[in-house]
Amino acid sequence: MRLLILGGTGEARDLAAQLLDEGVEVTSSLAGRVARPRLPVGAVRIGGFGGVEGLKSALEEFDAVVDATHPFARGISANAAAACAQTGHPLLRLQRPGWPADPSWVYVDNHDQAATLAAGLGKRPFITVGRQELARFVPALAGHEALARVVDRPELDLPEPWTLLTSRGPYDLDGELTLMREHGTDVLITKDSGGSYTWPKMAAAAELGVKVVVVRRPDGPGEVATVDDVAEAASWVLGRRAL
Ligand code: NAP
Repeated sequence: MRLLILGGTGEARDLAAQLLDEGVEVTSSLAGRVARPRLPVGAVRIGGFGGVEGLKSALEEFDAVVDATHPFARGISANAAAACAQTGHPLLRLQRPGWPADPSWVYVDNHDQAATLAAGLGKRPFITVGRQELARFVPALAGHEALARVVDRPELDLPEPWTLLTSRGPYDLDGELTLMREHGTDVLITKDSGGSYTWPKMAAAAELGVKVVVVRRPDGPGEVATVDDVAEAASWVLGRRAL
């Protein structure tokens, strides 16, 4: 069984580790977006495949695929669904659940809506949506004392009142409380990433009475078998190996 894991998440790394222990031949694929990615154990390839056609060619080296990419990485998930449908490769989607909704949070459908809403909700937003989306917050929040936290420094010039913080999770509650208190955060903007790595900011916001704007997950790739837990994904792979 030669397995391709489309990764870039903690779940993808955990799955690679579990399956290597079981003797599965695993290759993890990363997009190459961050300068110093956390690498999974086992074989790793880095960089795009070149769309559906490129992925189809790459699949010649594999027997099955687990798409364990981030819930907001919809391009690669759509490509995986299309490529596997055409080649006949078994495909499983491993996607962590979203956070259980808190009645005090406000959900929006996209980042532009998040920016506009946050501009009216506070003066000192804490933007935690990732480097790729930051530009969409500039028009609405250019005059706000925003704190933007990203893994790698973005290429765009940030508005003068903004503070940039480069760091990478996981975070803890004490650290998030200190950060939000020091910055005077009055509104937190986040994707519905789910998982525990970035949950402490949500707990800190609740404790401090900070408003929260949550960007809803985009629709998934459709008819792809999906599990939300690493152990289930490992069972799926091991079950296929036994066939
Ligand atoms: P995306 O918009 O879905 O993908 C854009 C293109 O990047 C894809 O078409 C593909 O290029 C390449 N790509 C993406 N993931 C890849 C992978 N695992 N291996 C090889 N190529 C990949 O993705 P994104 O939102 O930029 O996210 C990029 C990566 O970062 C994902 O792997 C994701 O798991 C991780 N990540 C994303 C977020 C987020 O909020 N979006 C957060 C944390 C981690 P080709 O068409 O050339 O194959």
